[in-house]
Amino acid sequence: MAALFDTLDPPLALAAEESRPQDGKKIFVKSFGCQMNVYDSRRMSDVAAGQGYSPTAEIEEADLVILNTCHIREKASEKIFSELGKTRELKERRAAAGRDTTIVVAGCVAQAEGGEITRRQPAVDLVVGPQNYHRLPDLLRQARATPGIVDTDFPIQSKFDHLPAAEPAATRARGVSAFVTVQEGCDKFCSFCVVPYTRGAEFSRPIAQVVAEIASLTAAGVREITLIGQNVNAYHGLGEGGEACDLAELLDRAAACPGVERVRYTTSHPTDMSPSLIAAHRDNPALAPFLHLPVQSGSNRVLEAMNRKHTVGDYLDIVAALRAARPDIALSSDFIVGFPGESEAEFEETLALTRKVGFASSFSFKYSPRPGTPGAEMKEQIDEETKARRLALLQGALEEQRQAFNRAAVGRVFPVLIEKIGRHPGQLIGRSPYMQSVLTEGEPDMIGALAEIEILSVGPHSLRGRIVGAKGVKETPH
Ligand code: SF4
Repeated sequence: MAALFDTLDPPLALAAEESRPQDGKKIFVKSFGCQMNVYDSRRMSDVAAGQGYSPTAEIEEADLVILNTCHIREKASEKIFSELGKTRELKERRAAAGRDTTIVVAGCVAQAEGGEITRRQPAVDLVVGPQNYHRLPDLLRQARATPGIVDTDFPIQSKFDHLPAAEPAATRARGVSAFVTVQEGCDKFCSFCVVPYTRGAEFSRPIAQVVAEIASLTAAGVREITLIGQNVNAYHGLGEGGEACDLAELLDRAAACPGVERVRYTTSHPTDMSPSLIAAHRDNPALAPFLHLPVQSGSNRVLEAMNRKHTVGDYLDIVAALRAARPDIALSSDFIVGFPGESEAEFEETLALTRKVGFASSFSFKYSPRPGTPGAEMKEQIDEETKARRLALLQGALEEQRQAFNRAAVGRVFPVLIEKIGRHPGQLIGRSPYMQSVLTEGEPDMIGALAEIEILSVGPHSLRGRIVGAKGVKETPH
């Protein structure tokens, strides 16, 4: 996959989007990094809700503060320790006012640093790795008795067997589009990536469990499901009869759930783009014609050094097969520039690849070494100035492609999932099949509907259009 790089968001205070003022204990979850962490943060909020915690957008009000950390960015650990310094001051202020605060560090930095976190910041009550969130109630009890608990084991049992479903009200507050984790971990060991070390080996949830989660989401109004995993297209979960099922089958099952209007999946590795998954883009009408398929580099030598296990030719063949299956499919990718030893000519090959494919959107980063990964030990690290210059060139080229793709939308009619009301009276905001934000005018009761929208103009960050029709919403079970 996954270069989880594709999905980096600014830190997100989940509580802000789902604040429900209530008396009693409050939880504040700050989520860093990828969609997997956003999903995990929500599931931790759901676990805490079962313990009587309601979300707050104000960290000062929180009796329980969870920092759900990400290890992808450079100096991730140092940033978390600086964040923890501020959280310790908060804990001291609240203690002076007679209020307890429990501080939890979760996510990939928790997994990577373990007991080092409580050693360097004793105000932390609990360090919990991504595979152990279902144990939070127990761990919190232990941490209250003996602060400084560290749980970063990879348990035999899956956390998904034990995590509670979200309350319908919490799901509704999160909107009409939802992530569902179907796969975790990675066996690929790309030489720049920490995921195989922090998230462990590949694991796939059984189909029945995923379908049950989707049913609870649609019952609360969700209309679009994005199946997520660090290497989602390696999915190989068990079907109801004990048979192994691939992602194409899971997408069929997800699309067949009453209430589901659109399905997506992210993030994928090129070597796991199986013929059945490519065919799903032709045969599954609910599957959005948009795929995030990271290539990382346009040089075969660099791809080999990255241990990507595919060539540029393999990637181009997959793109051609996808376009044959679904001619209107659009692609996005991740790129890393300045991988150790990358020559100017190899960088030029990356630029050439972007011109060959034509990406609708992309994420690109300077290589930065992650301790413990093979890339960090490689000689010929590229200097910062060269990396910055190459990144600027690449991002310029990718931005031109993004704008060209957006301009080409004018005059087309897209099915747009209406997600929320906009900032201006009568304005609605939705999302196109290609993840573009679309502004239109309409009634708030259209939220959750898949509207046919003719695109009239393009702004820097969104499209504008008018509703020309609406698909009926499938019946939802209650
Ligand atoms: S090691 Fe796995 S998660 Fe990391 S970039 Fe490679 S495929 Fe993606």
